[in-house]
Amino acid sequence: MATGNAEERNSANILLTGTPGTGKTTLGQELAERLSMNYINVGDVAKEKELYEGWDDEYECPFLDEERVIDELDDVLRQGGCIVDYHSCEFFPERWFDFVFVLRTDNTNLYNRLEQRGYSGKKLEDNVQCEIFQTILEEAVSSYLPSIVFELQSNTPEDMESNLCTIEEMVKRWTSNKR
Ligand code: ADP
Ligand code: MG
Repeated sequence: MATGNAEERNSANILLTGTPGTGKTTLGQELAERLSMNYINVGDVAKEKELYEGWDDEYECPFLDEERVIDELDDVLRQGGCIVDYHSCEFFPERWFDFVFVLRTDNTNLYNRLEQRGYSGKKLEDNVQCEIFQTILEEAVSSYLPSIVFELQSNTPEDMESNLCTIEEMVKRWTSNKR
């Protein structure tokens, strides 16, 4: 039976994670186009399939049903060639990913982006705090092999372009090592 280990994949799977507003979706969609990979926005999948359990009173949003999210995506992840976009990372099976990229943005930049998105009050403050405390980076480092976790700065369009090139290179090297 297939276990979904990297050895069985011919194309790499990538996780793009980071605080909301750091640029995961912008980077992921562009990468998917350049590398002809399958872009998966976990938040959108959950919304579409209503993969929720219960309600978070504090943040006034539903809780993700993590088990059902994993069941929903497992088959496609086993095939490889996926770019997964989500602002948390600890609950995904470790075996899914060959690369985990954590996007990072300076406080003022992030504050402005989230304010533009319509965030305010506690939600805005909490997300900026999350970035200051590098919560997602620590989550990634404690959930995956340190050798596959990479921190990328995402402040400027130049950063975006450089991140695209970096990831493209790494994926190409991964693929050629498979052959
Ligand atoms: P996320 O998916 O992580 O929440 P988005 O991709 O939606 O973030 O990006 C949030 C906003 O920040 C968008 O308006 C996007 O254009 C902008 N942005 C993202 N990355 C960069 C970057 N490297 N430089 C400048 N603006 C960026
Ligand atoms: Mg997004």
